[in-house]
Formats: sequence, C-alpha cells, structure tokens
Amino acid sequence: MRGCGDTGIRGDGGAAVTAPPRVRPRDAATPERQVRVGAVTIIPLLQLHYRVHPLRFFPDLDLAAIDPDAWYWRPPYTEDGFLVIDMGGFLVRTPDRNILVDAGVGNGKQRPNALFTGRDDDWFAVLRRAGTAPDEIDTVVFTHLHVDHVGYATHFDGTAWVPAFPNARFLTTAAELEHWIGGAAAGDRARLGEYIDDSVLPLRDAGVLELVEPDLRISPEVRLLPAAGHTPGNVCVEVDSDGRRAVFAGDMVHHALQLAFPDRSTDFCVDRRGASTARLDLLRGIADRDVLLFPAHFPNSTPGRVVTDPAGGYRYEMVEGDPL
Ligand SMILES: [Zn+2]
Repeated sequence: MRGCGDTGIRGDGGAAVTAPPRVRPRDAATPERQVRVGAVTIIPLLQLHYRVHPLRFFPDLDLAAIDPDAWYWRPPYTEDGFLVIDMGGFLVRTPDRNILVDAGVGNGKQRPNALFTGRDDDWFAVLRRAGTAPDEIDTVVFTHLHVDHVGYATHFDGTAWVPAFPNARFLTTAAELEHWIGGAAAGDRARLGEYIDDSVLPLRDAGVLELVEPDLRISPEVRLLPAAGHTPGNVCVEVDSDGRRAVFAGDMVHHALQLAFPDRSTDFCVDRRGASTARLDLLRGIADRDVLLFPAHFPNSTPGRVVTDPAGGYRYEMVEGDPL
C-alpha cells in the first residue's frame, strides 16, 4: 500500500521534503484544448488542481486492500497517495449557443474550506482565450448546486454578488434548489459554507435562475438527462450532434476509482444508493461505445471513453483533444 496518509515525500537522500500543495492554480503555460463532437466544440475550463485524502471522499475505503499499481491509483489520477480532484467547468459551443456546464469554485468567496476561500484564479482569462466573452454566454447549466460548481456564477460588483454572465439564464431543477435552501441540507451547508447565499440566491433575486425539467432540451444538440442521487436534482448534460455523443457527468463519477468500482459513492453523495444506481446506469449506457464522458473532476478536466475492464468494472481512455 502506498502511504495514503503521508503528506511528505522523500528526496534522494531520504530526507522528508515538502509535498506539493493540496491546491494549486491551473498551469498557465499548459495550452487549452478543445474537443469536437459533431458540430459542437467543447473546451474544458480548468480552475484549479485539488488533491484530497481518499478517506475524505470514501470514508469506508480499505486503503490496505487497494493495489497501488492499479490504473486508477497511479498518476494522473492520484498524486502522493492523494486523489486528484481537479475543478472548473466546460464551455460548450453549438452552432447557435454558448453554454457553460458548471462554474467552479469561484474567486473571492469566503468558505470553511481554506483551500477554496478567497481564490483569485484566471478562469475568465481561459474563457476569453477560448474566444468567448462572459456576455456571450447565453446559458449556464448547473449539474447540481455543490459549492465547487456554482462559484463563478456570481461576482462581487462592489456592493453585492451579482450574475457574472449578464446575458445568461442559469438552469437548475426545482428539486435541486429546494434541497439546498431547505432544512434537509443544513448539515451539508454547515461543512460546505453558506455558499448558496452568495452564488445561487443572487441569481434568483436577479430573475435569471430558471427551474427546469430534468430532461429539458436546451438546443437541437444539447439536452439534460435526469440523474438524481449525488444530489436530489442532479442532472447530466448530453451532446448529440452529427451522430457523435458526449455526456457531462458532473459528480456522478468523482474519481476514476468509481469506474473500477461503480457502486462506490462518495461522502458527498446525498443519496449514496441512488447515486450508485444512477452511475451504473450511465456507465452501462456509454461503455464500449463512441461516447465521450466529461466528468467534472478528472485530471485536467480530460474527457475520455469508458471501456469494460475484463477484470471487473470499467477503465478510462483519455481523449486529449486538439490545441485551442
Ligand atoms: Zn464537484
């Protein structure tokens, strides 16, 4: 077993050296990539690299039973025994729409998690380099309303948090909003922070938050797919264009470990059993087919194809795409 609880790494002389930081900005020198799905162009908008101890996500994981050489336990899926959980969102450009799928942790927000608080990342610069200005975004889809998916939806204008995309409608489901503003989520809000107040309610107050059906068609190429479980109103986003398909899975697959063991949900899943069922349904539906999966948190937001692993579960074949 690799030293999963060990935050130090050893240099050549055997002396402990400082481990890489638990969170670090996107590497500005790394060129952005784009992936074409028929007539649709998808550009990962990475905000930051985040590493988390496996037991924080999977508290009942038996670390001693994990094969340290397993594909999902090696880089880029882990670093120094920590899970790599990168964060950001995706720009989806169709022939007539500019859609954002999820909106990262955001900048300048106060959070209980010190790694998320007061960030100042260049996420909007990535968006502009992709050729799209914030006022050209017409739709923002939240796969769900967790803290790391709604951050850039608002920015502080000097007096209040306001929508960061002035010409966009912001889409979530009624079940999702009701969960997060109701009493059922009090425990989660206590550990994640009152982020709904600064990142979601300002959208509602501005009249731009739309509560939509979980199977809404957004454009001829893009529609939502119901996928409750991780959260009560969780959705996937499907792209289907010129016979090519892609699915944005949000947090239905947080980490590659869940491809190898699809029934394993995280400590952040509101309904673990429901999340497991939804994950299995999704993976069965796309495995061994020409369908690209875009998980929200894979290394460098890299999409891939899901293939059946003869040893059990599934594997991931990364698709790097083309330089922007
Ligand atoms: Zn997430």
